[in-house]
Order: sequence, then structure tokens, then C-alpha cells
Amino acid sequence: MGPAANSGKETLLARKTMVEEQIAARGVKDRRILDAFLEVPRHRFVEEYLKYKAYEDYPLSIGYGQTISQPYMVALMTEALAPKPTDRILEIGTGSGYQAAILSRLCARVFSIERIAALASRARKTLDELGYFNVSIRIGDGTLGWPTEAPFDGIIVTAGAPRVPEALLSQLVEGGRLVIPVGETGIQDLKRYTVSRDGVREESLGGCRFVRLIGKDGWQE
Ligand code: SAH
Repeated sequence: MGPAANSGKETLLARKTMVEEQIAARGVKDRRILDAFLEVPRHRFVEEYLKYKAYEDYPLSIGYGQTISQPYMVALMTEALAPKPTDRILEIGTGSGYQAAILSRLCARVFSIERIAALASRARKTLDELGYFNVSIRIGDGTLGWPTEAPFDGIIVTAGAPRVPEALLSQLVEGGRLVIPVGETGIQDLKRYTVSRDGVREESLGGCRFVRLIGKDGWQE
């Protein structure tokens, strides 16, 4: 994408290309999800000096050693989470707020926890400017979940965990989904856990690479 990245027409074109070439071409076909990626202006979630790269096929720095995930990874995790219009979804790792913005278009309420206060307040500002008012953000340790708002229909963790935090599975409804990268620092396996009356089903969705989930039931700082 060229320097004209700030005009509305240019960014819509960039989003169309991103959706077609990076997301739909790799197998994410759900129309509601694709429409959410067309709608949400990703360039608003990165700093000024990175805006011209906002629709490229890779993660970008958001400061504080953290990243906004590659668009395809956001799409893949969203598809795995399968948010329904009536769902209440919990996200761990607000970061830029982009994943929360995508989810806000697809479900009723989004609750998102971020441990770095500066990122949480920047995300809040961006989401407010865009009018995405069904997102609640809290500063804290997401490995403990959000007990006072539980249970959730889905939980998405956007940082790499050494193991599945106990609290998260316990805060899901029956039929609820937990999407979480689990593994070593630098390389994880994207997992989906589905809670049912008979127990918890585990599926592996492939390799991924996330920054560390730091907290009581995560990595130590
Ligand atoms: N979903 C974000 C990407 C987040 S990067 C986006 O769309 O931009 C991962 C984020 O998880 C970082 O901002 C990091 O600070 C945060 N994080 C790491 N451990 C956490 C924890 N225990 N609780 C809440 N946030 C955490």
C-alpha cells in the first residue's frame, strides 16, 4: 500500500486486498468474519509511523515489546472461537484493541484484559473514537479470568501460555470455547478447548508465535 494510506478509499481497497489475499485465500470463508475485517480500519490500531504497513501480511510492533498479530492469525483465531451475535466473549491481551474491535462486530459484548496500563488506555481511546462501545477493558492479570463477568461463551488468549490457566476453563458456559496458544517461548501450538457436559475436548489448530502471557498462571516476569 502506498503513501495515500490515510484516505478512506485507499484503506478500503487495502482491506479488500488483505481479506482476499491473506484471509479468504487461506481458507477463512465465513462471510460475517470477512465483513468484520473489511469494516475495521486496522491502520487506526498502529502508530503513525507504521500506518503504511497496517494491511501487510505480518505482525507489527505496538510498543512495550508487544505486537498486533498478523491479520490472518486474528482471522484464524476468530473463526476458531466461532462468535455468535448473542455471545459474551472474554479476550486476554487487549494490546492495540484490534482483535477486540473485530470481535465487537461479531458478538454482543467483549470483555478484554490487558496487563500494561498504557496499552489498555490507548486501546480504549481507539475503540471509543471508532464507536465500538460494546467492549469493556480492564487492567489486570488475565490468567485469572474475569470472575465477576463470568461465565463467557468464548475466551480468546492472544499471548503464548506455558499451560492452560485453570480459571479460564472454569469461566466458560457449557458449549463454550477457549482459543489459546500453548507452548514454549517463541513457538506455540494454537489450541481450542470446547467445554461440554462430558468434559473438555482439545483440538490442535497448528503452530503459531506469540509474545508471552505473563501472570500468576502464566510465565513469570
Ligand atoms: N490482541 C492484541 C494483540 C496482543 S499482544 C491486538 O489485537 O493488538 C499480547 C498482549 O497480551 C500484550 O499487550 C501483553 O501486554 C498482554 N498480556 C500478556 N500477559 C497478560 C496477562 N496475564 N493479562 C493480560 N494481558 C496480558
